[in-house]
Amino acid sequence: MSAIELNNISKKFGAKEVIRDINVSINEGDFLVLLGPSGCGKSTLLRMLAGLESISGGEIVIGGKRVDQLPPGDRDIAFVFQSYALYPHLSVRRNMSFPLLMQEFRLWHHLPVIGGMAKRRIENSPRVVEKVTKISKILGLTEMLDRFPRTLSGGQRQRVALGRAMVREPEVFLMDEPLSNLDAKLRTSMRSEISRLHKEIGGTFVYVTHDQVEAMTMGTKIALMRDGVIQQFGTAREIYTDPANTYVARFIGTPPMNLIVTNRRGNELTVGSTILPIAPPAIQTASGVLLGVRPNAVTVSSAPVEGALSGDVVMVEHVGADSIIAVRLKDGRTAHDEDGDLDAVMVTVPGYCDLSIGQPVWATIDLGQAIFFAAKTGERIRT
Ligand code: ADP
Ligand code: MG
Repeated sequence: MSAIELNNISKKFGAKEVIRDINVSINEGDFLVLLGPSGCGKSTLLRMLAGLESISGGEIVIGGKRVDQLPPGDRDIAFVFQSYALYPHLSVRRNMSFPLLMQEFRLWHHLPVIGGMAKRRIENSPRVVEKVTKISKILGLTEMLDRFPRTLSGGQRQRVALGRAMVREPEVFLMDEPLSNLDAKLRTSMRSEISRLHKEIGGTFVYVTHDQVEAMTMGTKIALMRDGVIQQFGTAREIYTDPANTYVARFIGTPPMNLIVTNRRGNELTVGSTILPIAPPAIQTASGVLLGVRPNAVTVSSAPVEGALSGDVVMVEHVGADSIIAVRLKDGRTAHDEDGDLDAVMVTVPGYCDLSIGQPVWATIDLGQAIFFAAKTGERIRT
């Protein structure tokens, strides 16, 4: 049984359709990442899953049960927001006990006096104490249970927010960019923290982010979205090695995949006046072909190389263990569709690179690692 099924989900705000015909199915224990640029509909989709937003069409099934008409409280989910939303006047312990209190307290809160007594009893009940103790241990919050949110760092607060979601032991955890308010270093450590938690508690997670690294490192499944439409759904590896279109190819990977404009001469593929020494059958008949190659599958040489593309170095960046070189082709173009991008082939080389700007170079593409797209539609051409 799938943990979550989204069938033909759509959403309109007025006349504007922001989610279009989404179909996704994940298994229990999966960590699904909804990935895409700002405004593509990730939060809207997550909020529909949570029941915080109505759906305009389709159905949502959680744990085999159709839930799209149920209120949030009946869906067995927990939501961790981008802002931590802790109660500032309650200790960490009380912040974490709160959801359990609410579960048991529903019946009592109409009766002020008995209600007040019941609240304290529930808070000190073995069930609540045991759960809060267990979860705070997993999250490394044991020492902080009596502190107040304002005395905690951003990362610690985020862990309390997670803890508050965890004590309820929901079927599904939903998280909307929970790390985006943290600084880079903390984000990296929280990333592995959340992955570890996911393995440890084994629940089903749905996690929204615009950060491809978060998606690639945390997700067991990724749904890459654009303008309310899923461009590709698969594992990180599938999306990286086998992108369905140029959008996916350019969204994942830093620097992004090069898309080089090719022409055809008979059965041969050319870039400018250079004939590429391959022509897969599927390419021979296609017109308007883009050659996609990742920056690490291109090598540069400062001396002429047979069959290489000649150009000039227009940028060199040293990023720790690697260098990134941009080569503008003398005779040939790239088809990088984002505004302001260099019309240049990006190359990554290990180590420190001694090339300088303006220097003529020859770029050799490892054609064994190249893939092809139709220029007009951006769709992958399978070879
Ligand atoms: P993301 O989380 O991927 O950044 P959102 O789901 O927040 O994107 O938004 C998707 C689109 O829906 C955006 O164009 C946004 O302006 C629009 N939108 C979101 N919420 C509302 C709303 N309550 N009313 C009208 N438009 C909305
Ligand atoms: Mg959002």
